[in-house]
Amino acid sequence: MKNKTRILIDPGHPAKDNPGAIHAGVHEAAINLQVAIRLGDLLEAAGFAPRYTRKTSLPVELYDRVHIEHLTEPDLFVSLHCNSFSSPGVNGIEVFTSIGHTKADHAAECACQALKGIFPDSRFRADISDGDLDKEADFYVLNNTLCPAYLVEMGYLSNDAERAKLTDPAYQDQIAAALCSGIIDWSETK
Ligand SMILES: [Zn+2]
Repeated sequence: MKNKTRILIDPGHPAKDNPGAIHAGVHEAAINLQVAIRLGDLLEAAGFAPRYTRKTSLPVELYDRVHIEHLTEPDLFVSLHCNSFSSPGVNGIEVFTSIGHTKADHAAECACQALKGIFPDSRFRADISDGDLDKEADFYVLNNTLCPAYLVEMGYLSNDAERAKLTDPAYQDQIAAALCSGIIDWSETK
């Protein structure tokens, strides 16, 4: 039997000095973990081998997340976050990869397409200047992991409508389903 594709899911935050975004009592660290568990369950059912950088609410530092990636040697690293901004009108979903063309670009594109497909009415904050939908950023976990890695900002907790959606278990299921289908697409075309 062929080895299962290993997906390391990274529910963003908390870290010792960075609890993550908090708005109206909603902590992104909690939402990130709730979606991560849903995604892991779906991946497992689809025949993947999911692992997690954390499965509790205890802090895990960024270098420890990267260290787990180095030790477990996954095929893909998926970091889950919620955004926030000073202006409450800002909303939308974003997928980030590290800067430049990398093995992560195709995986991230699959995630973008799946998210756009499941949420056609949501704002998708894409950067199409380089020919694909993902954005590029200098994030520690993207720069220091060895496997293809992308980071999903699932919405803005500072936006009332998106905060309400992100705390809804049915919406969390939909995000997890979109990400799972993007990972299936990637694994079939990588
Ligand atoms: Zn975050």
